[in-house]
Amino acid sequence: MHIARKRFGQNFLRDAHFVRACIDAIRPQAGDTLVEIGPGLGALTRPLLAQVPHLHVVEIDRDLIAWLHTEFPPERLTIHAGDALKFDFSRIDATLRIAGNLPYNISTPLLFHLAEFAGQIRDMHFMLQKEVVQRMVAAPSTSAYGRLSVMLQYRFQILHLFDVPPQAFHPAPKITSSFVRLLPLHPLPYIAQDPAIFAKIVAAAFSTRRKTLRNTLKTQLSDQDFAALGIDAGLRAENLGVADFVRIANYVQAAHVPH
Ligand code: SAM
Repeated sequence: MHIARKRFGQNFLRDAHFVRACIDAIRPQAGDTLVEIGPGLGALTRPLLAQVPHLHVVEIDRDLIAWLHTEFPPERLTIHAGDALKFDFSRIDATLRIAGNLPYNISTPLLFHLAEFAGQIRDMHFMLQKEVVQRMVAAPSTSAYGRLSVMLQYRFQILHLFDVPPQAFHPAPKITSSFVRLLPLHPLPYIAQDPAIFAKIVAAAFSTRRKTLRNTLKTQLSDQDFAALGIDAGLRAENLGVADFVRIANYVQAAHVPH
């Protein structure tokens, strides 16, 4: 028997109704290159393998990796043993469909890591804390809107599909979960010429939520720059949309302002 490890965010999905709902939402097809992050005890792995001939998984827990090796033959399951945060998804040379009931303790950094592979991804389906999904889909000028919203909405269309109560898992987490779909935007509606500058501007703008843009972006932009951009320097980061952040990043880049 496997004892759930808190440090690996192990809350195993055990409610057949919600397993089915996840698989129906993913709609696996025979030709797909599917990657599951954190297969655990196979709650999603098994029904996914009922629909596709082969699956990749990324798992960190050595005991679970050993167990997965005994349960699934290598021609059906390729096990990438290690940390999904460091996994180079481009090692799998195909357009990927990625899914998983993610370890909640690393969900935000993992989403940022996955965003770097957006060009190679067809779609992603994840179980996450509801509160994180609310931040992912939040609109400007709402309390949930922040760096995660901007950085993900820059690259993905994000759909909050359904909620899952704590009792659907063992052990039951303290919070409600949500299943979410991310679809890479092709083409991007707004293009940051240098994605690294865009990421820095967004991080700086949200570094202190209560401060105005004049304050948080003072090393990058003067009042004249704000005027040229047509953006009120007295606003806060939460008032700007993705398009505004892209405009600022491209302005900073074109003006060779230190960033
Ligand atoms: N998919 C299973 C299910 O639905 O029951 C398990 C989900 S559990 C919430 C998260 C899984 O991710 C566990 O199997 C855990 O060991 C694994 N995990 C935790 N941290 C990880 C990491 N950094 N990289 C890869 N897998 C990780």
